[in-house]
Amino acid sequence: MIILKLGGSILTNKNSKKAEVNYTNLNRIANEIKNALINKGMDNFINNNSSDQGLVIIHGAGSYGHPPAKKYEIGKNFNNDEYPKKRIGFSKTQICVKKLNTIICDILVNHGLPCVSIQASSFITTKNKRINNFNLDSIEKYIDEGFIPVIYGDVVLDDELKVAVLSGDQILQYIAINLNLSSKSNKKEVILGTDVNGVYTKNPKKYDDAKHIPVLTSLDDIDELDSTTNIDVTGGMIGKIKELLELAEIGIESKIINANEHGAILDALNNKNIKGTKIK
Ligand code: ADP
Repeated sequence: MIILKLGGSILTNKNSKKAEVNYTNLNRIANEIKNALINKGMDNFINNNSSDQGLVIIHGAGSYGHPPAKKYEIGKNFNNDEYPKKRIGFSKTQICVKKLNTIICDILVNHGLPCVSIQASSFITTKNKRINNFNLDSIEKYIDEGFIPVIYGDVVLDDELKVAVLSGDQILQYIAINLNLSSKSNKKEVILGTDVNGVYTKNPKKYDDAKHIPVLTSLDDIDELDSTTNIDVTGGMIGKIKELLELAEIGIESKIINANEHGAILDALNNKNIKGTKIK
């Protein structure tokens, strides 16, 4: 099973106040995914050959999701008289991330990848921001039928907070742990593409003396726990690492790579050794 997360920082201009897709990256990455699948003999997605591998793509919300979620403070406690406004904020955020997902799926499909969009807000719930209800049946069925499910960071109903933001990184963690298909190899390849060369001792965009960490085994490896330089509402790099360390604890390794680098997604999918950070 390949579980590929494409960060909002790669697919959108994340620091923009306006929702903006990075079409150059999106088209290039769609092409890299397609070529990698052909190289890996996973061209069942394109031709009708059989493969014991499956692929799930997860993407972040970038400049589509974070600004409305921040504006309406989705995931923060609120009084009941504020609920009408909160509901509107939830709806607006849901529409924004859905628009981004439609653009992404459209381009992936135009590259010959049979994507199917999966909307977290329509069936996943959380309790205090952690997934407590996520039925994987339809994702499993789509993979069995040769599709590539594409699921993304979204707003969801929360048993305690009423509404919350669910990050693509948490979705990735849940899927990596719980998706086990009898028809496919369950060796998990977990790859996250973001806009830096993996994890550093400090935020490399702020500190010139930040040192690259090739293998990360604990949050203690990081000197400054600075989440992100942009408008992320889900914990940025630190949120990502926490999810991945939980995966590492149960023996599932993951790799964070720089998807701004041409060919990085292609090489990572082809198991080539490229610069990045392994979380193990
Ligand atoms: P994505 O949208 O791709 O999921 P994020 O914006 O959540 O990615 O996280 C990537 C950002 O995290 C980088 O642009 C970087 O500025 C920031 N960051 C903060 N601390 C670190 C760190 N210790 N190592 C690497 N990046 C970090």
